Amino acid sequence: MFPTKEYERTRTEVLIETFIRKQLHLKTHTVTKVEETDECMLVWIDRLGRRLLRCGVCRQRCLEVHDIRKEREWRDLSMRKLALKLRYRPRRVECPRCGVRVEDFPWAEPWARVTAALSNAVAVLARELSWQGTARQYGLNWKSVATIVKRAVQYGLRHRKRPPVHVIGIDEVSRRKGQVYLTVVYDLERRVLLWVGDDRTEEAVRPFFTKEMGLRRCRTLQVVCLDMWAAYAKLVRQHAPNAQILFDRFHIVKHLNEAVDAVRRELWRRLSSKERTSFQGTRWLLLKNPWNLKDSQKERLSTLVQWNTPLVRAWYLKEAFQLFWTYKQPWRAQQHLYKWIRSAMRSKLDAFKKFAQMLRSHLAGILPWTKIRVSNGAVEGMNNKIKSINHRSFGFRTAENFIAAIYHSCARLPLPVER
Ligand SMILES: [Zn+2]
Repeated sequence: MFPTKEYERTRTEVLIETFIRKQLHLKTHTVTKVEETDECMLVWIDRLGRRLLRCGVCRQRCLEVHDIRKEREWRDLSMRKLALKLRYRPRRVECPRCGVRVEDFPWAEPWARVTAALSNAVAVLARELSWQGTARQYGLNWKSVATIVKRAVQYGLRHRKRPPVHVIGIDEVSRRKGQVYLTVVYDLERRVLLWVGDDRTEEAVRPFFTKEMGLRRCRTLQVVCLDMWAAYAKLVRQHAPNAQILFDRFHIVKHLNEAVDAVRRELWRRLSSKERTSFQGTRWLLLKNPWNLKDSQKERLSTLVQWNTPLVRAWYLKEAFQLFWTYKQPWRAQQHLYKWIRSAMRSKLDAFKKFAQMLRSHLAGILPWTKIRVSNGAVEGMNNKIKSINHRSFGFRTAENFIAAIYHSCARLPLPVER
């Protein structure tokens, strides 16, 4: 006898049910019905016979079911383009340890309204895409993505490996166009983000040493790389007295460039309007390395230079300073730096005098460069990533969300394991 159409239909359904049951790794539960509607596929789940359910708090097997709650719904990964929704009436079990508790769901965390598979897929995508973009991709709202990412980060921070840290870099990143700042700490050897703090004050950064690192882990710190403008040096001496403070090369160069810029702006203010016209668009000429300039650019630079002797001095001072990074012998580097500071102090350029004074009072953290040669430049890529995270989200409104997004994209945290 040929199978009837009716028979075939149920047979397909059984196949789908088995497929979904296997996909969800159900052992104490089973799929009883699958129904296709216009916008989604509904999967009904029920308890499998008298199999023992587990407590949602401690995951211990429980003998007694206390009661059956009303039906709940979970979003799962879509099948092709069809959204998948699970429906189930949760049981409350009598746990010998915890009392009456909602059972443990093998497909989702107790609090979640999406399955573990979906929330992990969302978390993976949110590392690359904005939260808005991720939400759109999975047909969720922004808030759900935010919740998923924050939970993933909490899990990741609890479960991440903490090998000894030897070389760290402390830096700041701005949120909302330089109005609010966060402090980030990197492991410069492993090139991974260790910690993010809300604000850039000493008090805001202290928890990194006291909570994240603790006494024991602070002892392994050998080098701490930071900006000499920043307020953390005291903090480092206090909590990691064995570590060498190294003022970051990239920050020093940034301040040097700012000094050149300050000289240029000062001149600009003094120039007549006619002179200004030929001066326009020359800022970058001065910031570029001379050997990278084309002939026409060199010509422009030389006219510029004839007009502005202070700018010439600034420019040569800048070039001369950069030699410091190339010395291999500490005493030569030191000699060069001392000479440079003296000539900067005689330069009659206020910005350079200020810079030189700053160097002079931070020598103990600048001279070790010849021996250590690390800088926050190693994690420049990560700093740019943080900027783009901030940018693509049009500036996070709360520090909490921004911090979660930074951890999520830069700290290489482990994701929750799917059971
Ligand atoms: Zn329990």
